[in-house]
Amino acid sequence: MGLSGLEIFKQLPKTNCKECGFPTCLAFAMKVAAGQEGLDSCPYMTEQARANLSAASAPPQRLVKLVGPKNELAVGQETVMFRHDETFHNPTGVAIKVSDAAGEAEIKARCQAIKKLTFHRVGTDISVDLAAVSNDSGDATKFASAAKLVSEYTSLPLVLISPDAGALKKAVETLGSAIKPLLIPSNGALDAAADLAKSQKLPLCVTNSDLQALAGITEKLSANVPDLMLCPGEIPEAKAIEFLTASRRAALKKKYRPLGFPVLMFVKDTDPAGVAIRASAFVAKYAGIVVLDTIEPWAVVAVLTARQNIYTDPRKPVQVEAKLYDVGQPGANDPLLITTNFSLSYYSVEGELTAARLAARILAVDTEGTSVLTAWAADKFNPQTIAKALKTCKAEEVVKHHKVIIPGHVAVLSAGLADESGWEVLVGPKEASGIPSYIKNDWKP
Ligand code: SF4
Repeated sequence: MGLSGLEIFKQLPKTNCKECGFPTCLAFAMKVAAGQEGLDSCPYMTEQARANLSAASAPPQRLVKLVGPKNELAVGQETVMFRHDETFHNPTGVAIKVSDAAGEAEIKARCQAIKKLTFHRVGTDISVDLAAVSNDSGDATKFASAAKLVSEYTSLPLVLISPDAGALKKAVETLGSAIKPLLIPSNGALDAAADLAKSQKLPLCVTNSDLQALAGITEKLSANVPDLMLCPGEIPEAKAIEFLTASRRAALKKKYRPLGFPVLMFVKDTDPAGVAIRASAFVAKYAGIVVLDTIEPWAVVAVLTARQNIYTDPRKPVQVEAKLYDVGQPGANDPLLITTNFSLSYYSVEGELTAARLAARILAVDTEGTSVLTAWAADKFNPQTIAKALKTCKAEEVVKHHKVIIPGHVAVLSAGLADESGWEVLVGPKEASGIPSYIKNDWKP
């Protein structure tokens, strides 16, 4: 969070010596506050003042990184309570739990299942980010072997959960220094795990459902282990949402450093639907990482979809390139559907056609990434813009029938579009889900 020029000025020597290139210390402070100068330009600032300013200008929530064999995941450093105030920056990490009590074959099978948890939605691949290895066996050697196996099979960054600091140490050593997992010890093993985190420069998760108690612990630990995460443990959902909201508010609104860390949530349920619902709520309400105990694809995709929606930037509509798209291998007699270049609109149409194995063309009209009804209401999806798009993409060169299908919600455009473009205008279904049956039953080239 930025400091004001006056706050910076208070920490300067106030000699106006001009060595920084500015006529006064105040002028220099104003430039630093505007981000146009660095503190290093003043050679006379004391170490204490420099430390004060650096600490005060640090983000209100720590960015925590977990490093795997191939990639890293960064969580935290969020700046707003509400997505529409700006945007949420670092998407919640979604982890799948793997127990070391399972046999090697079972662990490998679970890793294979985790690797398959990748889905294609609105033009983007969404997938699980982490594997969380749990030392349920109580055996340090088994735990280290399981961690190594999971790391090699999934290539994902890891969360290591054990009540035993010795087991955590063994697993960290087995993984090698290039891999930086998040350590989750029990409270009894916290001091030893903190020593390990300090010596290996690893992130550490501290568990306590009481925020005051948690703040007391992080205040002591953060000097040696700067990359901390918070966890309330297993508490009822309402309490969990309260914990997530209160810790985020304390960090962002009160600038309360002891709680300025991302939060990890465990999500358990005998019913995968319960996992999906609870994890999605935690994603929406500020969790930095959610650890799921299910690998049911339909439950995991629900959580990943919720995350994808929440972590898109509301200031930038998610859009596809405005152009003519082929779905399948369309011929000159296959239908031409019109929609907008809002990703969700385009992929809804494309998804229905692909799932029904229908060959067609889609013209995505440039509406600055807004949906059909929004664009129509804003007069961006009108007979003129659609006719212009038809002309620009030279649609008449690839179809013989000279017919377009417009979304049922904007049937009102049909007469105007026919006049403007000279094309025959057919009114399609209101929802994309109705497109396959419409084409099968009503389309005649
Ligand atoms: S170099 Fe430092 S002390 Fe000198 S004018 Fe600039 S800010 Fe002030």
